[in-house]
Amino acid sequence: MCIQGEPMHDVMETAPASTTATPRVLQELTETLQRLRLGGPFYVLLWGLAGLAGNLWERARWPFLVIGVCFIVLTIIRFRVRGLPKGSSKCSSDVEMRKRLDAIWMLLLVNTALWGGAAGWLLLVAPDESARTVAAVSSYAFATAFAHNFPMRLRQALLAIGLIYLPTLAGFMLVGSRVELVAVSALYLLYVVLALRRSHVEYLQRLDLEDELRRQRDLFEQQSRRDGLTGLANRRLFSSVIEEGMATTRRHGDALVLMILDLDHFKVVNDSHGHAAGDICLRGFARQLQQAFDNPDEMVARLGGEEFAVVIHGQALEAALDRAEAFRIDLVGTPQMLDETSSLTLAVSIGVAVFDPARHADVDAFYRDADAALYRAKELGRNRVCTPDIDS
Ligand code: GH3
Ligand code: MG
Ligand code: MG
Repeated sequence: MCIQGEPMHDVMETAPASTTATPRVLQELTETLQRLRLGGPFYVLLWGLAGLAGNLWERARWPFLVIGVCFIVLTIIRFRVRGLPKGSSKCSSDVEMRKRLDAIWMLLLVNTALWGGAAGWLLLVAPDESARTVAAVSSYAFATAFAHNFPMRLRQALLAIGLIYLPTLAGFMLVGSRVELVAVSALYLLYVVLALRRSHVEYLQRLDLEDELRRQRDLFEQQSRRDGLTGLANRRLFSSVIEEGMATTRRHGDALVLMILDLDHFKVVNDSHGHAAGDICLRGFARQLQQAFDNPDEMVARLGGEEFAVVIHGQALEAALDRAEAFRIDLVGTPQMLDETSSLTLAVSIGVAVFDPARHADVDAFYRDADAALYRAKELGRNRVCTPDIDS
């Protein structure tokens, strides 16, 4: 069948839902979770050692035990906190991720406050030098580790370090420690705060760098699937989409139509107006074709030169033929502007084939049918729409 007349983009890709979490927040959640698990057992272990050194079992058994149990419970919770349920991370929003991060930070703050309180209390109840040393060195170590492991949120990390460190410092002052010891401790706190600030800046720079790498990768990925002149899908993307479409049709039986479009006498355009004018025409044609077939289940591609394709999923052949004919007529009625004063009219021949799983074993067989229809349109005088089987 052919529909006769006078003589001369994309893609089933949908934009990500605006509610999807950004890779940046996902990364923050993943790293915070990994580091969350590290710390718990150390609090239990060092509390046990400090208690041993201060003979707390004899001096203050119950407070020692209660605090120890609290550290154990917090450690268990730290190990049990999970990311978002498997498979849901891709469709979770930034807001959900941040809520989860807020909860993790609350847990960290509770844990650090407990350590700070416990270490400060131990300094007051255990006069032994060794107990005080274990408690103080542990507080310095926890504060340092926090500055290096949790630089993601500056203000909350500062608060956590204060919660770990300040009660120890206060304990030293209350038990009348030497002023040099208090001064060294205060100076060390300053170092930890500066280290945290630097880690925070470096963390943000790393995230920025990774954002940029992701952006570049997406750009290369996009360029490898797009035609440079028109911005439409290229042959590579076309092949994968049509292959996918054929697989879906084989499973569900819905219609799949392929159109191959080839501009008529396009060589003449180049020969008489120049290659640059030819390029303007190709871009104008691509735009018009994309506008005519811009439903989510339609894909427009440039296969090469002045040959284009449209893949339509879920529409019967008759409807696709009507739309091809409407486009052909529209094209002839729309002059392509070469510059402000000159224009020319294009015409196109269109071959249309519907996918038949019994006939078309692979993409090549399906493509051959659409191409045969295009050949027929050219043979019959161009500027027309044809199918491979029936001629009109
Ligand atoms: P037919 O009606 O039989 O299709 O004739 P035709 O002149 O369109 O076909 P032919 O294959 O002889 O010529 C195609 C022309 O398309 C030749 C080439 O110069 C031109 N062409 C291919 N790619 C590009 C391009 O990227 N830019 C420009 N300006 N021209 C191109
Ligand atoms: Mg041509
Ligand atoms: Mg051609």
